[in-house]
Amino acid sequence: MRLLLYPDPETCRQALARPAADLARFRSAVAPILEAVRREGDVAVRRFSEQFDGFSAENPAVTAEEWAAAESALTPALRAAITRAGQNIRTFHAAQREPELTVETMPGVVCRRRSVPIDRIGLYIPGGSAPLFSTVLMLGIPAQLAGCRDVVLCTPPDRAGQIHPAILFAARLCGIQKVYKIGGAQAIAAMAYGTEQIRPVYKIFGPGNPWVTAAKQLVSLDGVAIDLPAGPSEVAVIADRQANPAFIAADLLSQAEHGADSQVVLFSDDQSLIEKVMAEVSVQLETLPRREVAAAALQNSRAVLLHNLEQALEYCNDYAPEHLIIQTKTPEKWAAGVTNAGSVFLGPFTPESAGDYASGTNHTLPTGGYARAFAGVSLDSFVKKITFQEISQAGLAELGPTIVEMARAEGLEAHARAVVVRTSETSNALSERSAVTPRANIAALQPYSSARDEFKGEAAVFLDANENSLGSPLEQDFNRYPSPPARLRALVAELKQVAPEQVFLGNGSDEAIDLLIRAYCEPGRDNLLLLPPTYGMYAVQANINGVEIRKAPLQPDFQPDMAAIRAATDQQTRIIFLCSPNNPSGNSIDPAFITELLGWFPGLVVLDEAYIDFSDQPSWLGRLKEFPNLVVLQTLSKAWGLAALRVGMAFGSAEVIAVLNKIKYPYNLSTAAVQLAVQALENGRSTFQQRLSILRQERSRLAAALAELPGVLQVFPSDANFLLVRVNDADAWYQHLAAQGIVVRNRSREMHCENCLRITIGTPQENDQLAMAVGAGAAGASPAPTAPAPAPKNILPCKN
Ligand code: PMP
Repeated sequence: MRLLLYPDPETCRQALARPAADLARFRSAVAPILEAVRREGDVAVRRFSEQFDGFSAENPAVTAEEWAAAESALTPALRAAITRAGQNIRTFHAAQREPELTVETMPGVVCRRRSVPIDRIGLYIPGGSAPLFSTVLMLGIPAQLAGCRDVVLCTPPDRAGQIHPAILFAARLCGIQKVYKIGGAQAIAAMAYGTEQIRPVYKIFGPGNPWVTAAKQLVSLDGVAIDLPAGPSEVAVIADRQANPAFIAADLLSQAEHGADSQVVLFSDDQSLIEKVMAEVSVQLETLPRREVAAAALQNSRAVLLHNLEQALEYCNDYAPEHLIIQTKTPEKWAAGVTNAGSVFLGPFTPESAGDYASGTNHTLPTGGYARAFAGVSLDSFVKKITFQEISQAGLAELGPTIVEMARAEGLEAHARAVVVRTSETSNALSERSAVTPRANIAALQPYSSARDEFKGEAAVFLDANENSLGSPLEQDFNRYPSPPARLRALVAELKQVAPEQVFLGNGSDEAIDLLIRAYCEPGRDNLLLLPPTYGMYAVQANINGVEIRKAPLQPDFQPDMAAIRAATDQQTRIIFLCSPNNPSGNSIDPAFITELLGWFPGLVVLDEAYIDFSDQPSWLGRLKEFPNLVVLQTLSKAWGLAALRVGMAFGSAEVIAVLNKIKYPYNLSTAAVQLAVQALENGRSTFQQRLSILRQERSRLAAALAELPGVLQVFPSDANFLLVRVNDADAWYQHLAAQGIVVRNRSREMHCENCLRITIGTPQENDQLAMAVGAGAAGASPAPTAPAPAPKNILPCKN
């Protein structure tokens, strides 16, 4: 036993390193045994038993005669001892039963946990040098108490095929009926995989030599549980100067005699005690029957002198012994500080052997430092804890949003839907797909209603709205408040192939943006999501309405980022604004992306199609029926060339459109605008088409011409009636054009739009003008076009 004087922690750790067991070698040796038993069953078991134990039987089960003979083969004293130990073990383990746990974690959410026995258990009891019948008690009793239905025990017989009668006696005490005379790796394989005679078990317990341990490790990779990573036995003693050196020496030797690879350690703050203990160990060793084994183990063992007991405890916790004996003046005081140990023995009259056999605690304990994280065997080792839960409808209504939020954040939509389909508000969302409800005050709102709205009959005299009955000074009379724009609505519905109830007519689509935010987002509570760079009015209206803006920027290629959207949204996100073709980038959003978004996002997806007529992409109007959370915005301001009228449209489910109509100003469209819009839609469709195709041609022409210019870095592909153009110095280009009376939009400050100008496609003449201006500017003053322009030069290849 080596003495360490005041070592630092690292030195001590190294000196206390466990004798390394090289199990890899054993694993490769036992793997073919396991494989053979798995394939051949009993035949292979017999073959290996013959080979390794020198005994095999056609039927390895212990016979009735052997059972009967066992009891009388023991002395009455041993029978009494085993019985007494069994009682204590039973008493202590029975007290470990836990009642079923029931907790209501929140109203309507009840969670339970119940211990349920592991049905089929396999116990391995080594034969070899010592018949470990105590281990039969330590494993068999808790298995019986737990209620494990099928417990088999394997143990190697001697060469005559005999099992120690104490093993059988102890097995009977634990109610074990199936004992097989099989040992070694083949026993582990038989229990793990089953043979013709042995049913496979679910968990294997018990100590063994390195072959058995390696076999347990390997079968555990095949789905069979094992008790503990077993290793050589060990004890640590913490003792002060008043401890009895003879007691300590005896405790140390009681572990040392287990095997040459065992380890015993003494921590003390008293050098004289250590010296006395070492002397005692030498004396006691002399008379031990297993002194060779113990002496070999003492080679791995250490006595550690430390400055005080606090330090001793600290070093001992670091070592994490299987057994810890505390022999100090106040053992309880130090016991309170034990953090790593398998089992602890307190005071001078508590030898470790008490726990090994008879006090009641279990002796199957974590070795090799595993006590840092593992506990010894107990009743718990023979049960698994199954949890149960039941949630009421109200409980799920309360908990549901939490689950949905987390599931979606993890990208597991089906998880979220399993909640959504059950919660009333959202189950509508899935069945009728009407996920969106307006703010409570909007739902409850009594809208403004005029006398003319309320009067259903025919009338010629209108004295209800305080207009000027004599009329206006204009040629055409506009003295009356506008009538509902039924004709315009019908024309739009017909043109767009939707029902009139799905059409909202607004004072520009800007009005629809405002009303959607107002109706669906509670200021100060809800939020909406924008995908910058995008149309600026969404943010302006959100700010006016006091609604929080969340952002999930487009990627540098201007396509949206689903992960960013999921991350930025939560259950208070009511609207996501998408713009396709997008202003200012001009690109369309991938339809598959929009479909996916509409699928999981429960709020409104407002898809702004202000520029859709310039694009080859189909409008989403055709898919409104499929997605009641979809609102599509269009306008007469762009392709229809009617920006001055201020007529825009929102299309959506009848419910959403009814909400917008309910909260709009009473006469939001002027009669003049409505009349002219009707005229355009009735008579202007072919002109509209012609102009559209000219604009599209001009778009290609201008894009190609700009792309050629020095100083133009990129002309982004456009599905709209503008081009986003990246130049070398956008501010200089803007100034340069402005100086020539040409106004373009400098979008340089927008996300991913550094040095970008947004240039509307004008008339062919305007485009020529622009081209001339930039041709001169770019040629003359790259990178900053400030120098006087050389003679203007038409850079456009054609003029039509
Ligand atoms: N949406 C987008 C994407 C726009 O670019 C604009 C105007 N620039 C609008 C809506 C507003 O359209 P309206 O004239 O119908 O209000």
